[in-house]
Amino acid sequence: MSLKITNLTGGYTGIPVIKNLNFSIEEGQALGLIGLNGAGKSTTIKHILGLLRPQAGKIELAGLSLAEQPTEFKRQVAYIPETPILYPELTLKEHLELTMLSYDLPTEAAWERARRLLKMFRLDDKLDWLPIHFSKGMKQKVMIVSAFLADAQLLVIDEPFTGLDPLAVTNLLDLIKEALSQGKMVLMTTHVLADAQQAVSQYAVLNRGTIEIIGSLSEIRQHYGLKDSDSFDR
Ligand code: ATP
Repeated sequence: MSLKITNLTGGYTGIPVIKNLNFSIEEGQALGLIGLNGAGKSTTIKHILGLLRPQAGKIELAGLSLAEQPTEFKRQVAYIPETPILYPELTLKEHLELTMLSYDLPTEAAWERARRLLKMFRLDDKLDWLPIHFSKGMKQKVMIVSAFLADAQLLVIDEPFTGLDPLAVTNLLDLIKEALSQGKMVLMTTHVLADAQQAVSQYAVLNRGTIEIIGSLSEIRQHYGLKDSDSFDR
């Protein structure tokens, strides 16, 4: 089982933002997508989520083609966005029920999972709350709970660490590591490499829409002639 991106070119209008990307993620592997603001990280994610249509190339997950089997493909993917997306009129409980429906999860087992996740992020007494009652960080935690509840093969996480309290960062990293140990795949964009390093072993560096190098953090530092103490972003 793997996520395979082949010659992916795409963007928003006629002019491509990402060009000829090639990478794959194997079972139990996390790939960090890094690079400067505007490099094309979120655009790459939007293509993998099926929110943008590629101009060229293929996106495949566990043998499913996103272009040819979009429904089956998307059921294997859970997403934690950088900015939480919640329905103003739905309570936390209803959001979780929506996730269970969308991913066709058996209710009893799903609620067992949900209870553990809610407790971890101290949301277990807030099931009746509407999004308006949650702080920004709490909304992020709702998105995390919902994504891990989905129990999907591929977890796509956009800039997860900013805005979370330290305990939530630790909990999130523990959940990512647990998912990897179960053979799940993770694609994460981030600027916070110190946190990412705890779960991510391989990084792809995007620069102006193309991948410059894929490797471990030390291989990447070596490629750019950076010392351990140097910040990576350049
Ligand atoms: P950041 O680290 O700031 O989140 P990023 O690497 O995720 O940056 P993208 O958001 O993928 O970068 O942006 C890549 C390019 O696509 C930028 O030049 C940006 O201006 C452009 N872009 C992003 N969103 C849109 C959009 N909705 N319509 C048109 N162009 C866009």
